[in-house]
Amino acid sequence: MASKLPQVAYFCMEYALDSTFKIYSGGLGILAGDYFKGVKDHGFPMVGIGIRWKQGYGEQHVDPATGKVFDAYRTGDHGFLEDTGVTVKVEIKGRPVHIKVWKVASFGVDSLYLLDTDLEANDGEARWITGQLYGWFGEERVAQEMVLGIGGVRALQALKIKPDVYHFNEGHALFAGFELIRRRMARGATFQDALARTREEVVFTTHTPIVQGNESHPIERFMYLGANLGLTRAQLKQLGGSPFNMTVGALRMSRIANAVAELHRVTANGMWKGVKGRCEIIGITNAIHHGTWVDPKMLDLAAKGRKDALWTRHMENKRKLIDFVEARNGVKLDPDALLIGFSRRAAPYKRSNFIFTDRSFIEPLLRSGKVQIVFSGKAHPLDDNGKVIVEDILEMTRLYPGRVVFLENYDMEIGALLTRGSDVWLNNPRRPKEASGTSGMKAAQNGVLNLSILDGWWPEACDHGRNGWQFGDGFESPRDAVLDKHDFKAFRKVLAEEVLPTYYQDRPRWVDMMVRSIQDTREAFGVKRMLDEYYARMYKRS
Ligand SMILES: *Cc1c(COP(=O)(O)O)cnc(C)c1O
Repeated sequence: MASKLPQVAYFCMEYALDSTFKIYSGGLGILAGDYFKGVKDHGFPMVGIGIRWKQGYGEQHVDPATGKVFDAYRTGDHGFLEDTGVTVKVEIKGRPVHIKVWKVASFGVDSLYLLDTDLEANDGEARWITGQLYGWFGEERVAQEMVLGIGGVRALQALKIKPDVYHFNEGHALFAGFELIRRRMARGATFQDALARTREEVVFTTHTPIVQGNESHPIERFMYLGANLGLTRAQLKQLGGSPFNMTVGALRMSRIANAVAELHRVTANGMWKGVKGRCEIIGITNAIHHGTWVDPKMLDLAAKGRKDALWTRHMENKRKLIDFVEARNGVKLDPDALLIGFSRRAAPYKRSNFIFTDRSFIEPLLRSGKVQIVFSGKAHPLDDNGKVIVEDILEMTRLYPGRVVFLENYDMEIGALLTRGSDVWLNNPRRPKEASGTSGMKAAQNGVLNLSILDGWWPEACDHGRNGWQFGDGFESPRDAVLDKHDFKAFRKVLAEEVLPTYYQDRPRWVDMMVRSIQDTREAFGVKRMLDEYYARMYKRS
C-alpha cells in the first residue's frame, strides 16, 4: 500500500531563513529555517507557524570606548511578506488581541505563516507582544507563546489547513495543545478524553539538556493571562507540575517526543525519568540545509576526489573570511597560518574562553603566528554573565592583536563565512550539555575539520584522525573544575601532537581528512535524511 504522508503543522518561535530577516536568535531557529527549506526542496506536506518579530532578536555590538557589550534593536523591513487576508483573535488578560497572518514565500520556503500583533486594532501593550524575540521571561513571554500556540491553531483553521500532526519544536508552542483540548471540551468531551485525543496528534522536540533552560511559570500566571483556556489549576498541575514546566507539559501532551542527537536522547531520558505519564523520547539527530551552508564546489570536488582543486577552493573560502575580518575589524590574518574558528552563544557550558585556560600553552603558538583564532558569538540581552564571557574574549583580542579576533553581532552571514573559511572548527562544551550543535555539521561538509569534545552530534560522526578529531574521550564529571582540567589536558595534547603537525608537515593527509569529512557527513547530516526520519518515526501513525 502506498501510504500518503501525513500533513504536519510545525510550531516554532524562531526561523533563521536569511541573515537580513532577523526573526531568529540561534540554533533553534537555524534548525527550523533549514527544516522549511528542506520541506520546499523535497516537497514534504508541512506548514510552519511562527511569529513576525517586529524588531527580532537584539543586535549586539561592542562600545569601542569602554570595551563593553551593548544591545541594539532595529525595526525590520518586512515588505516582502504576503498578506493572507486572515486575522484571528486570542483573549489575553481579558481583552481580545488581534493577530494578522502573513505568509513567507521567499528565502527558499513557501509554506511558512507568521503571526503579528502590531496592528491598529490592538492597544499599545498588545502591539508589542510580537515586538522582540525572547525579549522577556515572565508574563510577556507567556503572551508571546499564547499568540504562537493558540493563535497558530486558530490561524490554521482560518486558512482551512487541517493538520494530521502538530509538531511543537520546543515547549514554547505548548498552548497550541491547550487550544486543541479546549476545542474538544467545547464539543462535550471530558478533560481526560480531550487530552487523550489531543495526545494522539501532537509530537514534541526537546532541545536543551540544561534544567534552567527549560522554561517554567507559576500556574497563577496562566490563570491571570487566560492561558489556561478554561482548564483548572488541578488540570494544569496534572500536566506540567507546579510551577508549570513547559517541557514536562509537552512531554505529557505528546504521543512521542524526540531529542536532537543520540547522546542527547540518553541525556533527556535521564533528565525527565521522574516524570510520570510522559511519552517516550527517541533520538533524531539534527541536520543542515546544503544550499544555505555548504559550498557546492567543495561537495563536488570531494565527490570527484580532486584533492589539489579542493585545497585551492578551500583557500579561496579562507581568503573570503580573512577579507571580511579585515573589512570589519581592520586586522590582517595570515592565509598560511592555521585558522581556528569558534562561534557560540556565550553561555558558561559552551566554555568560549576554554582555549585560554593555560596561557603558557597557547601564548607561544599565538605569538609565533602558528595559530590564529576567529571568535564570534552573542550573549542573551538579559544575560550579564554571558556578556562577561564576550568581554573576556575581547580582552584576549587586545592581548594578542592580529592573532585573536572577535567578530561582533554573530549572525547567519558570519556563521556561513566562519564554517567555510576556517581550517579547524573548535567545539568545547561541557559534555553532555550540547544537545546537538549544527555549526560543526556546516564546517564538516565544507571540509573544515572538527576538533571537538564528544558531545552533541559529534560522537555519531567522529572518526578520530581520519575525518576530524575528538578530545576528552567522552569523560564527564559533575564538578566543572575537574571536567575543565581533564578536557584541557586532552585538548592541548591533540592540538600539539596531531592537529598542528598534520597541518604544517603533512598537507596531503590534511586534505585527505577534508575529503573524508565531507564524504562522511553530507548525507547523514543533510536535511533530507532528517525530514525522512521525522516522517517515518514521529509523524506516521503506527
Ligand atoms: C549554525 C548557527 C548556529 C547554531 O550552531 P551551534 O553549533 O548550535 O552553536 C547558531 N547561530 C548561527 C548564526 C549559526 O549560523
